Amino acid sequence: MENFRYLKPATLEDAISGKSEYGSRANFLLGGTDLLIAMDKGVVLPDAVIDLKGISELKYLEERDGAIYIGAAVTWTELLESELIKKYVPALWEAADLVASVGVRNTATLIGNICNAVPSLEGGAPLYVRNAVVFLEGKSGKREVVIQDFFTGVKRTVLGDDEMVTGLKIPVEAKFGEVYIKMGRYEGEDLAQAGVSVYVDGDNNYRIALSAVAITPVRAAKAEEFLKGKKLNPELAAEAAELALEAIAPISDIRSSKEYRIHMCRIMVKRGLAACVSRMETGLPALSTRLI
Ligand SMILES: Cc1cc2nc3c(=O)[nH]c(=O)nc-3n(C[C@H](O)[C@H](O)[C@H](O)COP(=O)(O)OP(=O)(O)OC[C@H]3O[C@@H](n4cnc5c(N)ncnc54)[C@H](O)[C@@H]3O)c2cc1C
Repeated sequence: MENFRYLKPATLEDAISGKSEYGSRANFLLGGTDLLIAMDKGVVLPDAVIDLKGISELKYLEERDGAIYIGAAVTWTELLESELIKKYVPALWEAADLVASVGVRNTATLIGNICNAVPSLEGGAPLYVRNAVVFLEGKSGKREVVIQDFFTGVKRTVLGDDEMVTGLKIPVEAKFGEVYIKMGRYEGEDLAQAGVSVYVDGDNNYRIALSAVAITPVRAAKAEEFLKGKKLNPELAAEAAELALEAIAPISDIRSSKEYRIHMCRIMVKRGLAACVSRMETGLPALSTRLI
C-alpha cells in the first residue's frame, strides 16, 4: 500500500470540501471492505482517503413522507436488524442477509456496495425493483438519480470527481410481494454468480431485476411488459423467464460459466415470480437462509 493522506471529517461539508480539493485522487471510505483490499492490491492508489464513518449526518435509517431513507454510513448489519427494512423492503433485507459474513456486514455498507459498482453487487437488484433514488452531493450542489441511471459500467457510476453519495430513498408500497435470490458457489461467504429480485404489486405489475449477469444490474423490461396485469401461473412464469434472459449478457469467469448463469437465471426468475406472488397473497415475511 502506498502512502496517502487520511482525512476524518466530522461534517458533510468538510467531506465535500476535502473531495473537491483532491478530485479523482481521493477516495471516500465507509466500511473499507472493497476499498482497502483494492488499495492493498495496488489497484486503487489514492493520494487521500476521506473516512465518512464519523459523520452523524450520514447515519439515518427512517420512514418518512412515504419512503424509507437510508444514509450512507448505515451498515448491512444495521439494515438486517431494522424492522423497517424487513417489513417495507424485504428483498433488500434478504440481500443484506446474504452479504459476506457477520464480520464484513458489521462494517460494510449498502452505499459502499453501490459506489463500488461491481456486477455481482448484492444491493443492485433489490434497489432496481423498487426504483430507489440515490442522493448525490458535491461542490456544485445536490442531485437525485434513479438507481437504474446510477451505474454506467463495471466499477463506473455517474458520480462526478467532486461528488459523493449521501444516501438513498425507497418508496413505501401498500400491497406488494418481493424476493431476492442469490446463487453462490457454496453456502457461506461468496460473491454472487447471479442475483435475481422479483416484485409484484396488487394490480399484477411485475418488476424483475438481475445482477452479476451483465456489466451492471438490469431490469427485464420485456418480461415485465409481458406479465403486466396478468395473474401468474406456471406457463406465464416460464414464458416470462425466457423473455428475462433477453435482458442479460453474462460472461464465463472464475465463479461460473456463461451457460450455467443463463440456465440458473431462467430457474431463479421462475422461482422469484412464484415466491413474490405467494408472499403478496399470504403476507409471509422475508426469510433468512444464511449460515454465517
Ligand atoms: C470477504 C468479503 C466478502 C464479500 N462478500 C460480498 C457479498 O457477498 N456480496 C456483495 O455484494 N459484496 C461482498 N463483498 C464486497 C463488499 O463487502 C461490499 O461491496 C460492501 O457493501 C462495500 O461497502 P463498504 O462500506 O465496505 O465500501 P468501501 O470499501 O468503504 O467503499 C467502496 C467504494 O465506494 C467508494 N465510496 C464509499 N463511500 C462512498 C460515498 N459515500 N460516495 C461515493 N463513493 C463512495 C469508495 O471510495 C470505494 O471505491 C465482500 C467483501 C469481502 C472482503
